[in-house]
Amino acid sequence: MNRPDADFIIIGSGPAGVSAAFPLVAAGRRVLMLDAGNDAGSQEESRSARVLGADLEALQVDDGSSPKLQTPVSRGILERFRGNSGITGSGFTPIGSLARGGLSNIWGAQISFLDAEDIADWPIDIASLQRSYQRISERIGISRNSNSTRSAHGEPVLPLGATAAHVLHRNTVTKPANGSFRLFPAINAILSEARPGRAACDLSGDCLYGCPTGAIYNSRQDVLQLRKSPHFRLLDNMRAVSLRRDAAWTVGTADGSSFSAPRIILAAGVLGTAALLANHLPIEEQGLRLLNSPTLAIPLLSPARLLRSSTPTHSLAQLGLSLRYGDRPSDYVTGAIYEVGSLPAQSFINRMPLGRRAGRAAFETIGGSLLVATIYYPGDQSRSYIHRDATTGKSLTIRGGFAEGFDIRVDALKKALRREWKRLGLIQLPGASLAEPGIDAHFAGTLPMGAPGPFGTSADGELNLHSGLHIVDGSIIPDLSSKYITMTIMANADRIAHRLAETEAKPAS
Ligand SMILES: Cc1cc2nc3c(=O)[nH]c(=O)nc-3n(C[C@H](O)[C@H](O)[C@H](O)COP(=O)(O)OP(=O)(O)OC[C@H]3O[C@@H](n4cnc5c(N)ncnc54)[C@H](O)[C@@H]3O)c2cc1C
Repeated sequence: MNRPDADFIIIGSGPAGVSAAFPLVAAGRRVLMLDAGNDAGSQEESRSARVLGADLEALQVDDGSSPKLQTPVSRGILERFRGNSGITGSGFTPIGSLARGGLSNIWGAQISFLDAEDIADWPIDIASLQRSYQRISERIGISRNSNSTRSAHGEPVLPLGATAAHVLHRNTVTKPANGSFRLFPAINAILSEARPGRAACDLSGDCLYGCPTGAIYNSRQDVLQLRKSPHFRLLDNMRAVSLRRDAAWTVGTADGSSFSAPRIILAAGVLGTAALLANHLPIEEQGLRLLNSPTLAIPLLSPARLLRSSTPTHSLAQLGLSLRYGDRPSDYVTGAIYEVGSLPAQSFINRMPLGRRAGRAAFETIGGSLLVATIYYPGDQSRSYIHRDATTGKSLTIRGGFAEGFDIRVDALKKALRREWKRLGLIQLPGASLAEPGIDAHFAGTLPMGAPGPFGTSADGELNLHSGLHIVDGSIIPDLSSKYITMTIMANADRIAHRLAETEAKPAS
């Protein structure tokens, strides 16, 4: 038999793929990574072309989605996925990437850590996840925003924006009636101190559109590190289209190449992995369950901050929040508060019932006191399923929806939130919107760890009935809390790869 091309083939160079690669490479295993994208477009274009487009087209587009998804760099990533993945949506926006670095090219970089209660039903212990959180945090670099009234326990900090600092101060002097609401400085995957190859955040403020100096974590940076190892090889422009098992696993690619290894690690993102596995799964009439976090955006105004000067800061999430608003365990949301003063004004001006010039003047007056809160519900409030297209039998359609009674729960949440905004001296402005399922890009639970049957995987992400085929992206996260998910996807991939490096004997070279 021919020698396999590698000990492990990892499909996907997003946050999950690189997190699985590091422990295997460190243990001396030969890792071949295939990615559908390449590095083109990440360096050579000017910053304004990446953000606004060569003829400023981003300023003209206003399709109601987040301003972030309208930039040319985001649209390029998402459109390639729409065109080539064979996945469409019905009442669901299928967000995925076919670019090197995956969705970390456009993520918001906000970090959350799950606790023992969050993972009570998972087939793993919290201690192993925490060890992986620690390793990932050290690798990617995370910073907390400073709490202007308290020291930050010696951790590296970035200054809070003036309006966010004001709101946080209000929260400490006007305590909530019960412990159901928490407000705190956000944690972001952004450097406050430089590292080799990556500069610290320069507080230029427009980082929602990617950081040219690498202060915000992007898994492309990790690919550069991995490439320094003789055990690691990356092949760009290699879109996997088939998986076949004989003595070993063979991956077929869109250009007709094939690569073999005893073990395959799928890290193509939840939708990309579902597309690759569709032929191996008995997706019947009911479809493949997909968890996603329903998302609410709420514009807010801080009248006390009108016409006040702002503090230079980054434009990632400034504050994090959580709220328990009902009696059921899942009546629990988390979220983030962003300052909007440092964002391009156009998307806000477009929504004002004023002419262009008056809109701009109004934005200049109030921009520094505007905030946007984004709220995430847990995945059990979604009802989204991946179906096989009945006509072609090949392509997939995602039908999105919400759990029964969700509209009533939205009203209950809005009521509870209004009470807290009032306490914080904030006015909720018109224009709060519930996004179409999928737009949150927090996906999980298609092939959960610990579930029996053809859709479940072992605690090591190995697909039941398919030995040697491991999945490490959000597909195997058994349930989706309302907390930001990427840090957990990375930690879980790290945990599995450590287990594989320990349990799989090193092959004779
Ligand atoms: C606008 C936006 C904001 C976000 N903000 C946050 C945030 O603040 N906090 C947070 O926690 N999460 C956030 N997310 C979610 C986060 O981006 C994802 O959870 C994360 O990127 C998932 O990582 P992944 O490696 O599993 O998949 P991906 O990042 O999707 O990477 C998949 C990789 O697989 C490759 N691939 C796919 N199919 C194939 C194939 N057939 N063959 C070869 N390669 C393939 C792709 O090219 C890509 O490199 C955000 C997402 C978006 C879109």
